[in-house]
Order: sequence, then C-alpha cells, then structure tokens
Amino acid sequence: MNHNLELQNVNKHYGKKKHALCNFSFSFTNGIYGLLGPNGAGKSTLMNIITDNLLPDKDGGKIVWDGVETRILKEKFRSSLGFMPQQQNLYENMTAHVFLNYIAALKGLDRKSATNEIFKLIERVELTDSIDKKMGGFSGGMKQRVLITAALLGNPNLIILDEPTAGLDPKQRVIMRNMITSLSEEKIIIISTHIVSDIESIAKEILFLKEGTLIDSGTIPELLEKVTTNEKTLENLYMQYYGEIKS
Ligand code: ADP
Ligand code: MG
Repeated sequence: MNHNLELQNVNKHYGKKKHALCNFSFSFTNGIYGLLGPNGAGKSTLMNIITDNLLPDKDGGKIVWDGVETRILKEKFRSSLGFMPQQQNLYENMTAHVFLNYIAALKGLDRKSATNEIFKLIERVELTDSIDKKMGGFSGGMKQRVLITAALLGNPNLIILDEPTAGLDPKQRVIMRNMITSLSEEKIIIISTHIVSDIESIAKEILFLKEGTLIDSGTIPELLEKVTTNEKTLENLYMQYYGEIKS
C-alpha cells in the first residue's frame, strides 16, 4: 500500500521567543527519508509533533496520515506508528524482555506473535544474550538497540527514528542501517541524524533542517548538483549549509 504523511505549515514555539519549527511543510511517501541538521535544528521537535508527543502551536498547522488528520485518527494513527525517541528513558529495573513484552501489549499484539517478533528482532540487534538482564546495566548502544526493537514491534507503517545511531559503534551502525533498509518496502521511515554517512547510502530523499526551517530537500543526485565545491559529496553540502561538520 502507498502511504502518505503530509505536514502542512507546522509551527512550534517554545515560550514566546523560541521558534523551534517554522512553517514546516512536506509530503512523505513510502521509502526512507533522512532528516539532517545540527543539534538544535528542530529534528526532535518535528518528530515529537508527528508522533503526538508534543503539540504544535495553536493553529500550528496540520498533520495528515493517509488522507485524515492525525488529531482525528488518534488511536488508529498510533497503531500505525513506531517511534524511537531520542532520550533514553528506559525502565532501568525492567529486563529488556519484560519491557518489550510491555510495549507489545500496549500495541495490542497477542502474546504469541509478540514472543515471536521479540525474539526475531532481538537476535538481529544481537541482544539475545542480554534479553533477561535489567536495562539499568545496559550501555548506551544496547539501550538504543532495545528502543529500535520496541519501535519495530507490530510491523508499523510509519517508523520515526530520532538519532537511532547515537552511541552505536561502527559494527552496530551497519547492523542498524541494514535493519532499516530491510524494512523499507511499503513503509514511510524517517530517520534524524547529524551524521551524513548514516543515511546517504539508504535514504530516498534527504531533508535539511536549519533553525527550524526546511532549507532544502531532494534525492541525493538532486542535492549533489547543488554542491559548489569541486568534490560533490553530501558532506560538502552539509558544510555549505551549516558551516561545519558536526559529529
Ligand atoms: P534537534 O533535535 O535538532 O537537536 P530540538 O528539536 O531538540 O533540535 O530543538 C530545537 C530548538 O528548540 C533548540 O533551540 C532547543 O534548544 C529548543 N528546545 C527544544 N526543546 C525545548 C523545550 N522543551 N523548551 C524550550 N526550548 C526547547
Ligand atoms: Mg534531537
């Protein structure tokens, strides 16, 4: 099925002064999107608004999922959604297994399919040996892998990953990338990062966010044409837009 997520003039202020998201409009269709921007660009704000963890301004635009506004869809929208938030608020005293069962229950999965899915996913992220350990003792990278597993449970059609590779070592980054690419059919996947190499080989389109404004977007060949230096790389375009490589 072809899905569509449409954002129309979404605005978010924090307090009176901070305009964290400025008239953001974009139409997402099936495939992987990279949301690039340095710290403070508004990536998490955008993702939290899409996933209904944060309200936009009053009269702050529309979010439309497959033709219907998400604020009307409510539960129906949530059941299509897999979200991996940036902050790692895990239940430190729970084992990964208990946590994932809990998330599966919240998503309405029956026990048998939950167990199957959890074991399949946890094996892919190489956490099988730690599944019955308390998450309080997990490294940042292990927590990230539990969180992506939680986001993927229930096979959602819209997957939003806020800096999924933060804290991962190079091998885990590759595992994460492969996992994401293996999902992409018939889904919309949005990944935020400030690391160009995380997404340049897998994204269908890349969005550049700067100080809350969408300053550019396009396919990689389209974007590479805009590079003004001799070496036409996405990293150089990032430099052009943000002045420095942040990593
Ligand atoms: P990113 O995820 O790209 O790093 P954020 O969406 O977290 O960016 O932040 C965008 C801007 O909004 C930043 O300037 C940040 O300081 C500000 N901001 C984020 N959350 C809050 C908040 N709860 N209160 C006030 N300002 C905030
Ligand atoms: Mg963020």
